[in-house]
Amino acid sequence: THFGFQNVPENMKEALVKQVFANVASKYDIMNDVMSGGVHRLWKDHFMRTLAPTPGTKLLDVAGGTGDIAMRFLDYCKETHGDNTASVTVFDINPNMLEVGKERFTKTPYHNTQQVSFMEGNAENLEHIPDNSMDAYTIAFGIRNCTHVDRVLKEAYRVLKPGGRFMCLEFSKVENPVISKVYDVFSFDVIPTMGQIVANDRDSYQYLVESIRKFPPQKEFAKMIKDAGFTVMGQGYEDLTFGVAAIHSGFKL
Ligand code: SAM
Repeated sequence: THFGFQNVPENMKEALVKQVFANVASKYDIMNDVMSGGVHRLWKDHFMRTLAPTPGTKLLDVAGGTGDIAMRFLDYCKETHGDNTASVTVFDINPNMLEVGKERFTKTPYHNTQQVSFMEGNAENLEHIPDNSMDAYTIAFGIRNCTHVDRVLKEAYRVLKPGGRFMCLEFSKVENPVISKVYDVFSFDVIPTMGQIVANDRDSYQYLVESIRKFPPQKEFAKMIKDAGFTVMGQGYEDLTFGVAAIHSGFKL
């Protein structure tokens, strides 16, 4: 059996997503490496080079989970600019994921500094974050888990300063038919089986695969970003690994 995610009523999606990430939290980082063969690291590195934060950047990393993007962000600022004034808020709906993230940061120079903080909440309602307060907003592999993507984008727009940048890294659609076939087998058969073997949790990984299928393709998502008020450059996205993932970006001008 699996979640039959396509048929989950809208009002149950949030609870289901919470349960999935509570289940996977302790194994999340290792499973990412196992399932992507480490490729998610390359995507995230590229994502951060594309954001190219300048000294003092204030970042809100939504659906920040165990802090992968936040860590890369602070490392980038330190290594590229020798900067220790940049700061990041890791924002996530799931306390279990945030706990794993906090624990990771205790082993870094950022621990107990103003550079990193954690906040629990729903991406659809950033009520404790003021208007026009952030230089950048990132969301990596998180937006497809949200029930109302339009509300997420609206909130992103609200909290960014004029000139601020929205950037999203998310699984996307593979257009090439041959690669798409291979990817189908990998995601529908291999990923849930690996979830079963490594994490003893087939259902959560089945959900993750189904949520990828359900998310709008590149162009449709780019249109949603424009509809939220953002200005996009060119087509508004960049495909990674044949479109297995994509980076979407927009500016609040
Ligand atoms: N950004 C991290 C990364 O790239 O490794 C974590 C990605 S993880 C696949 C998705 C995260 O989204 C989980 O930590 C989950 O708790 C969070 N999430 C799901 N729905 C959310 C929502 N509505 N608001 C905020 N976070 C949410």
